[in-house]
Amino acid sequence: RIAYVNGRYVRHADAVVHVEDRGYQLADGVYEVCEIARGFIIDMKGHLDRLDRSLSELRMGWPLERSALELVMREVIRRNHVRNGLVYLQVTRGVSPRDHAFPTKPVRPALVVTAKRTDPRVSARKAEKGMAVITVPENRWERVDIKTIGLLPNVLARQAAVDAGAQEAWFVDPDGTVKEGASTNAWIVSKDGVLVTHPADFGILRGITRATVMRIAAEHDLKVEERHFTVEEAQAAREAFVTSATSVVTPVISIDGKAIANGHPGSIARSLREAFFAIAEKSPTC
Ligand code: PLP
Repeated sequence: RIAYVNGRYVRHADAVVHVEDRGYQLADGVYEVCEIARGFIIDMKGHLDRLDRSLSELRMGWPLERSALELVMREVIRRNHVRNGLVYLQVTRGVSPRDHAFPTKPVRPALVVTAKRTDPRVSARKAEKGMAVITVPENRWERVDIKTIGLLPNVLARQAAVDAGAQEAWFVDPDGTVKEGASTNAWIVSKDGVLVTHPADFGILRGITRATVMRIAAEHDLKVEERHFTVEEAQAAREAFVTSATSVVTPVISIDGKAIANGHPGSIARSLREAFFAIAEKSPTC
């Protein structure tokens, strides 16, 4: 495998960053993960627009011009012969003697790009099975709309899910409001067939897959409401599912051990997943 690290393509095994990279020491950086399906980068434009926003919210510059970064992503994918998989990119504020404040001397942001193959049959099987979700108290900072590499609460939440025999954890506010998953956006389908997901405010990451699913829903005359919903409402819903570049649309079959509907993946989540792959390939930005 080949990775891109600060201007060079290197063997994945030799891909290293400096010990004083601010991402390594302070989690002072941002990232993106894009899905690659049948050779297409899905929603690249949306991911790079969000990267631009994350960088500017943290007053960081682009490590390369946007068009050059696109080329690097494509080149890493090509060199790794990925037709189905993921491309990961990470930008940190750069290498500088450790200090919490920004470097006083200008430093070039550091860039790492990697790509890996995944087996689409494995994710299809996961989607057919559906996932079990647990809930955990929201303990993250208020700016989770920025896609930073500071992911410790998400790491602990996901591990709590794994320890409980589940696959994802949903962060929940003290009033019972479901925010989102450790690495996914959370959705339910209400009894009257309306898709419900948390509003895209500072409380969640504005998922690129979430936005695509909204477009698909509109095309299929499915109603979407961006509003708060509680764990109780989710457990009583007709369906529940999660979205992300990695999981696309994956049905949720239980929440905290309580089965959703009959405990099998819902039909709306299934058809959204199918429609996603169909439109992703038609997208001119791929
Ligand atoms: N929410 C969180 C906390 C995430 O980390 C992610 C993806 O990594 C998502 C939602 C889904 O976002 P996207 O659809 O852009 O992958």
